[in-house]
Amino acid sequence: MRLTDHCYAVTGLGYSLPWCVNAGFIAGDEMTLIVDTGGNRLAAQTIHGYASAARPGNKLRVINTEKHFDHIGGNGYFRELGIDVWGHSGIARTPDEFQAEIAEFNDAIPDPARRARHEAQAFYYRTNLTNPNCPIHNEITFDLGGLKAEILLTPGHTQTNLSVWLPQESVLFAGDCVVREYLPNLDAGGSADWQQWLESLDRIERLKPGFIVGGHGPVSSGDEISAAIGAMRKVLREAIARGCSPTARP
Ligand SMILES: [Zn+2]
Repeated sequence: MRLTDHCYAVTGLGYSLPWCVNAGFIAGDEMTLIVDTGGNRLAAQTIHGYASAARPGNKLRVINTEKHFDHIGGNGYFRELGIDVWGHSGIARTPDEFQAEIAEFNDAIPDPARRARHEAQAFYYRTNLTNPNCPIHNEITFDLGGLKAEILLTPGHTQTNLSVWLPQESVLFAGDCVVREYLPNLDAGGSADWQQWLESLDRIERLKPGFIVGGHGPVSSGDEISAAIGAMRKVLREAIARGCSPTARP
């Protein structure tokens, strides 16, 4: 969906139920910056197709908002095309972690015949684990041609979370720092991380974005933004008070 003159959200990409995952892109005069690559190669092809069609001839660049596989699964497809993938310097997933993810996916398939056929392999068709090749250590600004994209460090969900802010169009691509309709996933950290997450939300609120494209759920605008941030704060504060995430397994 087109949000502004230059910003687009690619919503509803497949992932493990009940999750859909979002990506997006920003088409400047010279460069199109793609935010996240979906969970697999098929998602990457979809994102690449839309991003290429919006402004053909632009150089393409990818940025990952975090380390989880639903945001980096399509990286390999872009790297095969010679496109640089930027991401937090802490993103260094291992082949073993990726194999464990595939196994977990397969175990979650409800139908025993499909489970026995290892149909998780269909989801991950020709998907290779590929970490970013351009590490981000500090906040940085990309010049997309007539448009600046500010890369903000917004840790909390993981230490690798970052957001992409387009001040000229008031659009924030927040990754899993902001999700809607779902309970946010707090299981990658503890109380200190959740406190940082609250600080990241404070910072996002101060930007007064017109649109937020979160990692999961609908795009937010207008009153939906304060409602989404408020809902996130409530979950985080309760988890800090209780000392465990709402989805922690005993
Ligand atoms: Zn996610």
